Amino acid sequence: MAIATSFDVVHSCGHTLTHDLTSRSADQRAGYVRWLSARQCTDCWRTAHQADAASTAEWLEARRAEEQAAAQEWATRFAMPLLEGPEKILAWGERTRHQLVTAAYTDLVTEGTWDESDWAAFEEQVRLLTRAGWWVDQRDAQGSDLPELLDAAGQRDRPTENPFR
Ligand SMILES: [Zn+2]
Repeated sequence: MAIATSFDVVHSCGHTLTHDLTSRSADQRAGYVRWLSARQCTDCWRTAHQADAASTAEWLEARRAEEQAAAQEWATRFAMPLLEGPEKILAWGERTRHQLVTAAYTDLVTEGTWDESDWAAFEEQVRLLTRAGWWVDQRDAQGSDLPELLDAAGQRDRPTENPFR
C-alpha cells in the first residue's frame, strides 16, 4: 500500500486544510504534517501578522502625536521660536529640540553645577538655533553635550539671528 500524499491537517487555529505532500519523500510526510499542525493555517497567519503590523504602526503614531503635543506645549511655555526647514522634518526637529533641551536642563542644572542665570543665557542661544535639520542631526546626542554642539553650530543654523543686536 502506497503512503498517502494528501493529508487533512488540523491547524492550531482549528481550521482543517488538505495539503498535498507529493513533493516530500514518503518518510518525511508524517513529520511535516506534525509541523504543519502546530501552526496556524496560512489565512490565519496572514491575518494575525497584518493585525500586528497595524497595531504597531498605530502605537507609534499615537506616541509620536503625544511627543509632538508635549514639544509644542514646551515651546510655547519657554517662548521657543518655530523652527525653519523642509515641512516634512519640522515636527521631528521640534520633538528633538524638546527632548534634548529638557535632557540638558537635567544634566546641567538639576544634576549639574549650573544655576538659573547660566541656564537663562543658554536658553537664549537655544532660541537662536532655528534650523530644524540641525536639531534632527543632534537627535542621538546627550543633554550635557548640547552647549558644545551649540557652540559648534554655524551661522546658517541660526537664520533669524539679528546681526545688529
Ligand atoms: Zn486558520
